[in-house]
Amino acid sequence: MDQQAIENAVTQLLKAIGEDPQRPGLKETPARVARMYAEVASSIGHRPEDFTNYKIFHVADSPRMVTVQQIPFYSLCEHHLLPFFGEISVAYVPRNGQVIGLSKIPRLVDYVTHRPGMQEQVTIDLVRELQDLLNPLGIAVVINARHLCMEMRGINKRGQFTYTSKFTGQFDHDQSLREEFLAQVRSHHSSL
Ligand code: ZN
Repeated sequence: MDQQAIENAVTQLLKAIGEDPQRPGLKETPARVARMYAEVASSIGHRPEDFTNYKIFHVADSPRMVTVQQIPFYSLCEHHLLPFFGEISVAYVPRNGQVIGLSKIPRLVDYVTHRPGMQEQVTIDLVRELQDLLNPLGIAVVINARHLCMEMRGINKRGQFTYTSKFTGQFDHDQSLREEFLAQVRSHHSSL
């Protein structure tokens, strides 16, 4: 990432909106913004090592499904570069008792959200990543998020959630499995 180019661009932006980039409160801002982007956009063009070199565990008596709930995430909408953030719940049905370390799923969430994007695309990307890693018999992803680009501009009321979901394989055909997953998600849903 070109930190100097970000700093220059932020300085230009501040000038363009009529600010004085030299005033004391803003003097350090371009450098801060550049450092922030290094973090919040760290997934662009970079696939973490642990998704190419990872361990699959075999469990003899496989659980019906593995669920990781309420994983917090923060991302930037690609239309306004403002945050959207919320919680992601993920479940999968292991194939032949094959599971991955539970910490891998929050890492996947970080990976697919640390770049400008859309909630719909994050939902799909997570399904695809999990499919690539594990090829399970079914995947469920549910995302509840607030979008500041809509709240700050008065399009959404404060605290209004956007919900997206995707179900594949057994979660798609087996309604009772899907209901079991959704009931867990609903019972643990915290208000952000
Ligand atoms: Zn937006």
